[in-house]
Amino acid sequence: MTVEQQARRWIRPEIQELSAYQVADASGLIKLDAMENPYTWPEDLRREWLSVLHKIDVNRYPDPQARALAEQLRQAMDVPDEMAVLLGNGSDEIIQMLAMAIGGPGRGILSVEPGFVMYRMIAIWCGMDYTAVPLNADDFSLNMPALRKAVEKTSPALVFLACPNNPTGNQFAERDILEVLEMAPGLVVVDEAYAPFADTSFMPRLGQYDNLLVMRTVSKLGLAGLRLGLLAGPPAWLNQIDKLRMPYNINVLTQVTARFALEHHEVLDEQTADIRRERERLLAALEAMGGEIHVWPSQANFLLVRTSPGQARMLFDYLLKNGVLVKKLHGSHPLLEDCLRFTIGKPEENARLLELVQEFSANG
Ligand SMILES: *Cc1c(COP(=O)(O)O)cnc(C)c1O
Repeated sequence: MTVEQQARRWIRPEIQELSAYQVADASGLIKLDAMENPYTWPEDLRREWLSVLHKIDVNRYPDPQARALAEQLRQAMDVPDEMAVLLGNGSDEIIQMLAMAIGGPGRGILSVEPGFVMYRMIAIWCGMDYTAVPLNADDFSLNMPALRKAVEKTSPALVFLACPNNPTGNQFAERDILEVLEMAPGLVVVDEAYAPFADTSFMPRLGQYDNLLVMRTVSKLGLAGLRLGLLAGPPAWLNQIDKLRMPYNINVLTQVTARFALEHHEVLDEQTADIRRERERLLAALEAMGGEIHVWPSQANFLLVRTSPGQARMLFDYLLKNGVLVKKLHGSHPLLEDCLRFTIGKPEENARLLELVQEFSANG
């Protein structure tokens, strides 16, 4: 047997069918595709950070529980006192721990679509059934009759709701989320990756519902390179899920750097406030263009836009040719026909994006 044949024989068929998570090469481009915070740190802060790193001994394993960091994150994210927290190597790793803890024959994951792709990916990795309920087409709100039907039919062990949702940017209605918590037979994870840009959170509701967990990440906040996520909820759940955590999953550089960043959170707070302001400016400017571009309001650090029919790919290519990388959603889901997603960048980056969109519309 050739090595290819051996791989085909032994790798699970559902894995062979997957395509790996795609990340576009953005070198030399204005990068508005991945919901990153566009700002770096001021030079004096960088120097102070390096002096902290200087004291680390990398020959030693990190604190396995990352206790000091966990305590700081509890404060920063207003985790209620009685609730436990668990840290992950990005919230993606937490999704994986949840699926491994809950998965098994006849156990399924339910979420909505268009939605965050990792829920489905990880369901497949863990051999779980995955059900996605389409959102309402006009405003991407939760389709409650369809959700009720799907919950009854599939009795999902685990429900993920990204609040605000990616890639649509909207916050789901609180009463709808509460209804999902009441109808779900198993766990409901409210994924608040975009909490720094949203007006509401389910964190204060932890404990009100036995089956509610809240997930956060520092990625969209401005620390995507560290890979650090957090799960908060009743200890009865988290003590079990913690058994699936890789030893030392939060490396020493991440622990020390995240602690340093949280000590200087005013820098990140200012950056996220700037991003929120820029989001509203870009939204208004795109709305002012009239019929050419439809844009939805957003509680996240990106805007979902729809071009005139058949124009999304051309606009994407036009932006790329002129040095701006955005995310092309067209073709990924029927509800995202003619859609692109613009991550909010620095003011001058957003201005360049807007200028190009206007040029494209004028010449189209
Ligand atoms: C970006 C994103 C995440 C992943 O966050 P990491 O902590 O970087 O793994 C999780 N959920 C949603 C909805 C996201 O958009």
